[in-house]
Amino acid sequence: MLRAGLIRMLMAGVYTYLPLGLKVLDNIERIIREEINAIGGQELLLPALQPLELWQKSGRDEQMGEVMIRFTDRKKRKISLGPTHEEVISELVKDNISSYRQLPLILYQIQTKFRDEIRPRFGVVRACEFIMKDAYSFDKDNDGLDKNYQAMFGAYNRIFKRCGLKFHTIEADPGVMGGSESCEFMVPAPSGEDVIWHCLNCGFSQGAKAETQTPPSRDCPKCQHKMDLLNTIEVGHIFKLGTKYSESLNVRFLDEKGILKPVIMGCYGIGVSRLIAAIIEQNYDKDGIIWPREISPYKVIIIAVDTTEEKNRKTAQAIYEQLKKENIEVLFDDRDERAGVKFKDADLIGVYLQVVIGKESLEKNSIELKLRSHQEKMLVKQSEALSKIKTLLAG
Ligand code: ATP
Ligand code: MG
Repeated sequence: MLRAGLIRMLMAGVYTYLPLGLKVLDNIERIIREEINAIGGQELLLPALQPLELWQKSGRDEQMGEVMIRFTDRKKRKISLGPTHEEVISELVKDNISSYRQLPLILYQIQTKFRDEIRPRFGVVRACEFIMKDAYSFDKDNDGLDKNYQAMFGAYNRIFKRCGLKFHTIEADPGVMGGSESCEFMVPAPSGEDVIWHCLNCGFSQGAKAETQTPPSRDCPKCQHKMDLLNTIEVGHIFKLGTKYSESLNVRFLDEKGILKPVIMGCYGIGVSRLIAAIIEQNYDKDGIIWPREISPYKVIIIAVDTTEEKNRKTAQAIYEQLKKENIEVLFDDRDERAGVKFKDADLIGVYLQVVIGKESLEKNSIELKLRSHQEKMLVKQSEALSKIKTLLAG
């Protein structure tokens, strides 16, 4: 990510997203918004500054320990920088929902979180300031929660698939979140900090991190086949919270019979910035990143082999204008660099489709197209270039 110019480190665990990195983030966020909106989620934006009082009410002030960044402001208010937002969203819903007729409700945000991690490492995988998508569901009963949890499970599967990821889901310990049921989305990668057991035979996976000493082998509890131990990166986590927060923070509604009841909650997180690293871990070769189509910061990169040569430069410029007119995100490498440097950089930053304009193909009124994920180059007549590019971008 550093070499490809996606990020820069300001201090341990704190990163700047450069223009290319921000484009990748935007693409991930767009996919998330589309899928969460599709199941009825409504986006909002909660504050990062939170009154510590709320955490004392929920009982999580101590539990969070030093992970939560706290300070006192000039008016002596005790404040935390939000590591997560169950408390704040509960406070909001408490004041705005009073009847079963206002439920169910799914609210979500994409926002910067702050956690003073003991060991910030692996770049954006474990940062102290990072971007999370956090969603919260509110229901009048457990059936409603089950439905929302299932809908969210489906949306997460679609999101991670569109991000070009292979992943496994495991039943997890709700831990500090509380609640009854939870599921983690784990992306296999050698650098991953979380270890899971995975059965190649039936696909069942389970976490291994709770074990102090991991046994050398294990049989699948579903099919008795030998399981593999995999290093993974956790990219998402969904929880059935039940009434943990609605009880402690007093989020209640009147049901059909006029009885006051605590709202049933779920919460659903995705590590948006962590996803960039997870996607790269599964999509690269010795030359650099191989962005999946929907994630690629630009869909097309145009490489003019010799910009000092008039026909070469003009053809490249014309194709660039043509693609822009079609609203195709295109990057034009018009630098006065050797062709080898341009090819190397195009491979490193991993743009999905390379369009190469060079002397030999121009003599045949053609240009070359090459998918970053493939070795073969396609020689295409200039007159057919646009339609061929569109076909390749359609997937
Ligand atoms: P981890 O076990 O990796 O610390 P967590 O259980 O603390 O994660 P959650 O509180 O469930 O994580 O947060 C939701 C998602 O946010 C996680 O699934 C993960 O993808 C992401 N995330 C959590 N902590 C960080 C961090 N320090 N840096 C980047 N992303 C993070
Ligand atoms: Mg954590």
